[in-house]
Amino acid sequence: MWGQNFRPSFQELYQLKRFGKPICAFTGTATIRTQSVIVEKLALVEPTIIQMSCNRPNLVYEVLPKKDQSGKGDVVELIKRRFPSRCGIIYCSTTRETLELAYELKTAGISAVYFHGQLDQFEQQSNSQTWFTEKADIICATNAFGMGIDKHNVHFVIHFTMPKSLEEYYQEAGRAGRDGNTAFCILLYRFEDRSKLLRLVFTSEAPDEVRNNQKIALDTVVSYCLSKNCRREIILKYFNDNSEIRCNNTCDNCNNQDIISPRNLSEQAKMLCRCKEEMLTKHAKLSVKQIALTFKGSKSKRDVETKGFHEIASYGVGRGAFKKDANVITFIHHLITENVLQEHLRSISDPCTTPYITLGNNAKLVRDGMKEIIIKI
Ligand SMILES: [Zn+2]
Repeated sequence: MWGQNFRPSFQELYQLKRFGKPICAFTGTATIRTQSVIVEKLALVEPTIIQMSCNRPNLVYEVLPKKDQSGKGDVVELIKRRFPSRCGIIYCSTTRETLELAYELKTAGISAVYFHGQLDQFEQQSNSQTWFTEKADIICATNAFGMGIDKHNVHFVIHFTMPKSLEEYYQEAGRAGRDGNTAFCILLYRFEDRSKLLRLVFTSEAPDEVRNNQKIALDTVVSYCLSKNCRREIILKYFNDNSEIRCNNTCDNCNNQDIISPRNLSEQAKMLCRCKEEMLTKHAKLSVKQIALTFKGSKSKRDVETKGFHEIASYGVGRGAFKKDANVITFIHHLITENVLQEHLRSISDPCTTPYITLGNNAKLVRDGMKEIIIKI
């Protein structure tokens, strides 16, 4: 994968040009931006670029909500119900998660091993061989389990935590179904996982520009999860693949019988931003839940009344626009990924851990009618 985290030594490959030989560069996936980085780093002059469709018609794309907070119960239930005795990979975001999830699966009678970059070479080989030779059905792994995996009968790839970019997602999910049979790419989603990953981004020592790009990449994954449009289409468009796409109901959104029409929620976005600003006169740091409940006119003692939010002018102005509190929360999540609102993580010393919300860079554009918010919700 060619990206910001690419090995530094590979950045020197342009020096091969000294030998006057032709250079060919190959990559599994590349956005337009990545293509231009490759051209620049290899110092290619007017290269011929050949791009094949990256559509994999036998892969089925789904996003499922994590119902319990840890998500482990969801995975056990999912595998028992849909994939008993089938070969699969579960990608986790931390070494600890791989271990805990493998333990949870084994406790539930499902054969599983784990793999991460901090295991010694012997353990890595032994655990991956157990999976390759079908002595275990499932491997719970970090993204260290990647290069060179070519096992044909992987029936499913589950992402236990959302990946950091759509490139990463497409590559990891693409390890399913290499035999051409129908295979499943399932992403388990909780918006709160974004905060967890964002903390990793902002505590890293990378330069600001890299961190900002990582935040943007993460938000493309969150938008993918929130979207009610065809998942296959989102992925292919992301890679600038304009080939004739036929999903044929092989993603959960196309397969959904309910017809959800796009709504122009620009006015509601303005109202919600105003509501948030008025709430600031009562309390300095506002959570998604507090804003959602105040906007909807909830009588919650804990999140609204004890803070005096029911006394502001905009209390309840969003009452008619959304049926459920959950819809308002999803709406706010959309606004965060659109940078109309911004989520801030608390410092380690803050006793409260819930992120707080401020206006984002695009709030002014929405307020001035320069940016529309049109979403399916
Ligand atoms: Zn679809």
